[in-house]
Amino acid sequence: MSIIEQAKSLLEEQYKRIWKDWYSNLDITPAEFIVEEKMHSSGYKKDEDKLFLFLPEANLEDVVHDLGEHDIPCLSSHNWSLWKRELVHEMLHEYQFKVIQDNVTNEGCELYKVHGKPFYGPGHGQDFFSAIADRAPYFEMQPEELMNNL
Ligand SMILES: [Zn+2]
Repeated sequence: MSIIEQAKSLLEEQYKRIWKDWYSNLDITPAEFIVEEKMHSSGYKKDEDKLFLFLPEANLEDVVHDLGEHDIPCLSSHNWSLWKRELVHEMLHEYQFKVIQDNVTNEGCELYKVHGKPFYGPGHGQDFFSAIADRAPYFEMQPEELMNNL
C-alpha cells in the first residue's frame, strides 16, 4: 500500500472515531472525506459537505508513524502534528455549520473578542470560536489551548 493510501485509511479512521463521539445523538451524516498529497490549504466545503485534507509527503509519513503502531492515539496531548491540527480544524468547521449554526455561545464570542483573528480566510467568526469552545473539553483542553493547537 502506498503512503497516501495508508495515511488516508488511518486518517479516515480517526475522522470516524471523533465524528461518532461528536454527533452520536444527532440525526446528521458525516462529510465526504478526501485526502490528497498536495501543498494546498485543507478545507471543509459546506455546500458539498466535503472535508479535504491536503498534506505534503512528509506529513503523510507522520500520519503513518503516529497512527500506524498505536491503536488509540492520545488526542489530548499537546504539540499536535500537522495532520492532527488540520483534521481537527476542518472538523470544527464541519461542526460549526452542522451544529453551532446561529447558536453562538458567550464563551465563543469572548474567545473571538480576545484573540481576534488568528486564522486566514472566511469561516473564522464567532461561530467557529463557539465550536472551539464547545469541543475543547473533548480534548481535555481549555478553549485557548485548543485554539493554539489549530
Ligand atoms: Zn479554517
